[in-house]
Amino acid sequence: MEINEDVSERLRLPKSALKVSIPVRMDDGSLRTFPGYRVRYDNTLGPNKGGIRLHPRVTIDEVQTLAFWMTFKCAVLDLPFGGGKGGITVDVGELSQLELERLARGYIDEVADFIGPDTDIPAPDVNANEMVIGWMADEYSIIQRRYCPGVITGKPISMGGSLGRSTATGDGLPRDQPDAPHAPRAGDHRRRRRRDDRCDPGFGNVGAALARRLDEIGFKVVAVSDSRTTLHNPDGLAIGAVADHKRDEGSLEAESGGKGTEELDSDELLGIKVDVLVPAALENAVDDDNVDGIEARLIVELANGPITPSASDALTDRGVLVVPDILANAGGVTVSYFEWVQNRNGLYWTADQVRQRLQARMANEADSVIALADEHETTLREAAYMLALGRTGRAIEDRGSAHHFKNDGSGKP
Ligand code: NAD
Repeated sequence: MEINEDVSERLRLPKSALKVSIPVRMDDGSLRTFPGYRVRYDNTLGPNKGGIRLHPRVTIDEVQTLAFWMTFKCAVLDLPFGGGKGGITVDVGELSQLELERLARGYIDEVADFIGPDTDIPAPDVNANEMVIGWMADEYSIIQRRYCPGVITGKPISMGGSLGRSTATGDGLPRDQPDAPHAPRAGDHRRRRRRDDRCDPGFGNVGAALARRLDEIGFKVVAVSDSRTTLHNPDGLAIGAVADHKRDEGSLEAESGGKGTEELDSDELLGIKVDVLVPAALENAVDDDNVDGIEARLIVELANGPITPSASDALTDRGVLVVPDILANAGGVTVSYFEWVQNRNGLYWTADQVRQRLQARMANEADSVIALADEHETTLREAAYMLALGRTGRAIEDRGSAHHFKNDGSGKP
């Protein structure tokens, strides 16, 4: 792409980043502090938007990278948002529910001046479910002494959440019409059959919701995994029962998968023979060590950054179609945007309205990405970045001199 040098210079670094430490009184009376972060990458197109991740491996670098991806993801979907992200370095498995609540509220206390409905709007990410987001929304309203649902999305419905948000990240993928292939028209790129085998490494907020949805519309889900267990059933897992067990007991259980379900070692997962692979856990799941064993012809990146750059090149060389994260999982931020709009209007939409608007936007922007990929004979990933960079770059240029100066040495705008 021909882009103004000012644009690439402007996007080289995040606009601002906040590091905090969050003191939490533990149940045994001791005090622990947890590192927390919030990064606003770019806000040219609107307030920053992006989730909060709770994980032991969270670092400022990771949060910054995730905020960078959010900048491009919002632009691909033509949402009036820039990119942001937050995180807390914590192993939530070590906390009681009350400790987790104190941590969630403590995080908001520390970042309250940095976020806001018009400036920076957090959302869910790994280990931040509706309950955690609800505590965070409540804490912000307590600090502001007014009801502020628009400060965070992914809230429980009772607190101003949107219908359809909890399943939105995966719901943007399968089409209801006409013969329901998977990825937004990217599937049409390869004219795949409706009954594909697939597996979903990562069975959390987004992976489990997608698996349920695919099962509903007639796909056969043959393998799923979480951080501890991998389940495989070549005849298709009983996804409803597997997901119910995971929700109620917090674990994947072979017995719930139906006759013929076996447990595998986690490193066997990616080598299972499937047509479609949906990584839905964390970054770098597919790397140089395991990429050669992948048999899928279509990979849909539901997680952010699940394939390393060199593994991605190897897949492209082998003709594997990859639907990139900034398009494939953008259903989540799209319904987050709808939630924010509803909060600001005080007028709430039906589940059908949400789904129709989500599908329309995803299909429209996926078509633009595919058209660019065809025109420039490039990958869907590069085309998605081209679309996003074009939109953000144009806005950076239109903003004018407060953001950049002409490069003619005059120092004048
Ligand atoms: P989550 O915490 O609900 O689920 C993560 C899942 O990954 C869990 O089942 C966990 O056990 C599993 N996992 C972790 N390490 C694993 C490993 N090594 N092998 C197999 N499974 C492993 O998180 P989530 O909200 O579903 O997010 C998952 C991904 O989707 C992340 O990359 C996130 O950034 C991305 N994403 C989330 C949203 C959202 O709205 N929640 C939106 C867009 C993208």
